[in-house]
Amino acid sequence: MCKVNKPSVQNIVSAVLACAVIGVSAYAYQLYGNNVALNEQIAENTAKVSAAKTQIANIDNLNAQIADLQSQLDSKTAAYNELSNEKSSVEDLTQQAYENGWNDACYEYDFEPNPEDIPTYDYVAEIDKANSPTAYITPTGKRYHLSQSCAGENAIQTTIAEASEKGYTPCMNCAQ
Ligand SMILES: [Zn+2]
Repeated sequence: MCKVNKPSVQNIVSAVLACAVIGVSAYAYQLYGNNVALNEQIAENTAKVSAAKTQIANIDNLNAQIADLQSQLDSKTAAYNELSNEKSSVEDLTQQAYENGWNDACYEYDFEPNPEDIPTYDYVAEIDKANSPTAYITPTGKRYHLSQSCAGENAIQTTIAEASEKGYTPCMNCAQ
């Protein structure tokens, strides 16, 4: 036969207290764990917020640059439009003067100018001609020279473009 001792009140109280301490400890431990995890999340989120703030600052900076470039573009576009208008009015005036000159020349040689015969003034060709390097021709020669002394005493100053247009070919000695 075994004899079961009746638990004393003191023993029951002790057991209950022990359970309570274990329970509270476990709960405290769990809370501590939660707290660590929360702190990690807070640190992580703080870092994310800080990165986002940096990105926002970068975006603000880029937006400021874009606004600045846009205003530069606007002012360049305005200047370009102004120059385009000036260019087109200069072109109109030049074409008008060119046509007047053409008509005058026709009247001078006594024939009626035909508007369809008047060529359009070629700016690109004229600018090329104006920028063409200096050359020398002679009244009797068929070559143009880059060296005045090679052209000789009767050298006439012109440009390569003009000489070529008149049928002169480059001198073998100085222009090739
Ligand atoms: Zn020559």
